[in-house]
Amino acid sequence: MTIKRNQSITWSDVMQNNYGAPSITLTSGKGLVVTDINGKRYLDFLGGIATNVLGHAHPAIVKAVSKQIATLGHVSNLYSHPAGLELAQKLISLTQDPTARVFFCNSGAEANEAALKLSRKTGKSRIVATNNSFHGRTMGALSLTGQPEKRNPFKPLIKNIKHVTFGDITQMRKAVNSKTAMVIVEPIMGEAGVIVPPLGYLKQLRDMCNEHGVLLVFDCVQTGMGRTGTWFGYEDEKIRPDVITLAKGLGGGLPLGAMISLGSNTPQFAPGEHGTTFGGNPVAVAAGLAAISVIEKNRLMISAKSFEKRLKIKLEVIRGVTEVRGRGLLIGIGLNGNYAKELAGLLADRGILVNAPNANTIRIAPALIVTKVQIDKFINIFTQCMQEVIRG
Ligand SMILES: *Cc1c(COP(=O)(O)O)cnc(C)c1O
Repeated sequence: MTIKRNQSITWSDVMQNNYGAPSITLTSGKGLVVTDINGKRYLDFLGGIATNVLGHAHPAIVKAVSKQIATLGHVSNLYSHPAGLELAQKLISLTQDPTARVFFCNSGAEANEAALKLSRKTGKSRIVATNNSFHGRTMGALSLTGQPEKRNPFKPLIKNIKHVTFGDITQMRKAVNSKTAMVIVEPIMGEAGVIVPPLGYLKQLRDMCNEHGVLLVFDCVQTGMGRTGTWFGYEDEKIRPDVITLAKGLGGGLPLGAMISLGSNTPQFAPGEHGTTFGGNPVAVAAGLAAISVIEKNRLMISAKSFEKRLKIKLEVIRGVTEVRGRGLLIGIGLNGNYAKELAGLLADRGILVNAPNANTIRIAPALIVTKVQIDKFINIFTQCMQEVIRG
C-alpha cells in the first residue's frame, strides 16, 4: 500500500533539533527491508532500535491492529478491556510468577518512572544505579541514567541516586545498605554499547538485595521480549528481580511499556497513586499479543540464539574487530578505533542500517524474523566496509 504524503517538507523547517537532522527519510518497509524517499532500499539491522521484533508490516501485526482499531479504540483507564487483560496475563505467565502484576504505560522512560515511584512505597528513597546505564530521558528516568553528557545540562536531578561501575559487585556492595530503596540495572547495557556483565553478577545483585531488603529492578526495555534468546534479558542467571521494566519490543512496533512487579511482598500502588492516559491502549496491546504469539509459534528465540553464534564466529575474525558482545540478536561489534560513526554511514550507503552507540561500537538489533540469507548479507557487506574504512 502506498500513502501519498507531502514530500517537500524538510526536518529543520519543522522539527526541534534534539536529534540533529536525520540524513535518511524512510517511507515504507516490509519485513527487514525499508525504502527511503528516493526509492533506495536498506536492510534494517537496527529494527527501530530493538523495537520492531517482527520487522515492518508483518501480517500478524497488521491484522491484529486493524481488527482492534475497527472494534474498539482507546478507552482510557476508567474501563477494562479484554486485550489488555490478556496481554497482562501472558506477561505474568512469561515471568513464571503467578503473583506478578502489570502496569501498562507507553515507553521505557515511563516504565522506569513507575518503578522509581514504586520504590518510594518502601518508605526509603536511596537508589543505586550504574555508570553509563540508560534508563530514559524524563527527569526521573534521567536521574537513574548514568551518562553525564545526558544528565549535566538538566541538573538538578533527583537526589540520593548513586552510580557505581556496572558489573562490579564489590563497588555495588559498598553503595548498598538497608537504607537503600532500590537497585536498578540493565541485564545487558544497551545504549552504553552492548555491555555484558560477568556471569553471576545478576545473581550476586539478587543475593545482596535479599540481604538488605532492597528492591531489585531489571530494566529489560532493550533486552526483553525474546531479543536475547529468552523473554527477559536476565533469565540466563536463573533468578528473578522484584520489578521488570519493558518497552521497545513489547508493542511489536507500537508504543507500549510495562512495569511488572514480582512476588507478593513487592509494594503496590494504591488506587489513584499512579496512572497514564494511553497506557495499555487496546491497539498497542493487540499488537503486543500478536508479536508474542508469532515469537512463540515460529520459535524466534531459538533462531536468535543460533544467529548470535553465527554472527560471533563470522564477525570476530574480521580485521579491526576487537570483540563481538551481546546475546541473541542484540549485538555490539567492538572496533579497534573511533570510526564507528563513519562505518555506520558507509554501511547505510551500501544499504545496511545499523547505529553507533559510541565511537568504537556498532550495534545491531535486527527484527527477530531475520533470515540466514539476510544475516549473511549483513556479514558480507560489513566485511567489505571494514576493509574500506581500515584501508582508507
Ligand atoms: C530505550 C531504553 C529506555 C528508554 O525507553 P524510551 O521508550 O525511549 O523512553 C530505557 N531503558 C533502556 C534499557 C532502553 O534501552
